[in-house]
Amino acid sequence: MIEIHNLHKSYKMGSNVLHVLKGINFSVKEGELVAIMGSSGSGKSTFLNILGMLDEAEEGLYLLDNVPIKNLNETKAANYRNQFLGFIFQSFNLINYKSATENVALPLYYQGVGRKERNEKALEYLNKVGLGQWADHLPSELSGGQKQRVAIARALAAEPKVLLADEPTGALDTKTSYEVMDIIQTINDSGKTILVVTHEEDIAKMCKRIVHLKDGRIVEDTYVEQVRASQYV
Ligand code: ADP
Ligand code: MG
Repeated sequence: MIEIHNLHKSYKMGSNVLHVLKGINFSVKEGELVAIMGSSGSGKSTFLNILGMLDEAEEGLYLLDNVPIKNLNETKAANYRNQFLGFIFQSFNLINYKSATENVALPLYYQGVGRKERNEKALEYLNKVGLGQWADHLPSELSGGQKQRVAIARALAAEPKVLLADEPTGALDTKTSYEVMDIIQTINDSGKTILVVTHEEDIAKMCKRIVHLKDGRIVEDTYVEQVRASQYV
């Protein structure tokens, strides 16, 4: 699903160059649930943003579903992004003046799906994350955990092949974090490939594989016995 060879990324600030990713080799098969760990500033978000085509590496090879991701024009990049990738962020990134349904339906609008179908689909995915009753509510009327579930429904509605989550539990208390991980595990159980950036050990252990980033390199990459979140919720 994902194949990365010798990926490098630096940020230039004036005459200084910050070499953040120093030759990453990494691949992910369909159906994996991978945690990307590392201390703050280790390049986790940079890496995920490159995987998510929100940023580009200056060196290396990136294949997403066998398609080389490099030098794509804006339209092509946007198409691949819509077709392949769903995003979940620590800060939810919901639109405040739109209801839960409207937030979930928005990516479908950009895909050209008609109003009736997008609202039906939005409701279907809100039901999947247990929020059918909250469809007409605004984000300000929802708890943090509920907001993240809306964001998960929004990411799923476009039926991406890969879900990318950057610290999805970073703004949530422990119990709510486990509820969100329970949903992420359930989605993965049905075969969806998911990458979760986290710096929390307990969250990483709820994935099936843990990759450690340090000083711009992968220093550890191990398959683990998955801890189920459902036992805590
Ligand atoms: P993490 O998500 O692991 O905390 P990041 O990928 O956000 O790490 O950042 C890695 C390093 O790159 C940090 O030192 C950060 O300050 C720097 N960095 C991130 N984004 C930029 C940017 N747009 N411009 C300059 N430096 C950046
Ligand atoms: Mg980060």
